Amino acid sequence: MEFSSKLLERAVNEMSQLPGIGKRTALRLVLHMLRQPKEQTIGLAEALKTMRVEVKFCKSCNNISDVALCEICSNPSRNEGVICVVEDVRDVMAIENTSSYKGLYHVLGGKISPMDGIGPHDLNIESLVAKVKEGKAKELIFALSSTMEGDTTNFYIYKQIQDYDVFTSTIARGISVGDELEYADEITLGRSIVNRIPFESSLKL
Ligand SMILES: [Zn+2]
Repeated sequence: MEFSSKLLERAVNEMSQLPGIGKRTALRLVLHMLRQPKEQTIGLAEALKTMRVEVKFCKSCNNISDVALCEICSNPSRNEGVICVVEDVRDVMAIENTSSYKGLYHVLGGKISPMDGIGPHDLNIESLVAKVKEGKAKELIFALSSTMEGDTTNFYIYKQIQDYDVFTSTIARGISVGDELEYADEITLGRSIVNRIPFESSLKL
């Protein structure tokens, strides 16, 4: 692609680093921005910059937050003895949308996947196990996607905590095998949390 402007070229190159955005799409977006009022593009750039620099990960659950302890963890009306274990922030958003859950979360930041070189120590598992050992968690609800990696991760965590006084459950599988949590509709996802089953019984299936 030949550019008549180095400034244009740089903007297109930066934009095309985003997933799913090729050079052609990047060029279309950048040209669109050039036709918009300047303020609009500057607003976008500032929102992205501020978000990237200032956003935090909650020190307790690793959810994305503007402050050190996220709104969910700092809400006194939430049941702090129940912790829902999820892969990423999108799962927290999906479950919150159901309005069916009043406990806390723990965001792992992924799942164990030897194929992708992701081991237990690459995830926020130690801090979760610590919550159980300290007696803060009375119940862990495993809400990972029902893939081999999700099952492996559940089982790894279960092994770490099974000797402690904590009840483990897993969301009911109205969600079909292999489905990612974030794509489940709200009613199905809400029900699957309410109708959760003991983790041990899911192992025998
Ligand atoms: Zn939090």
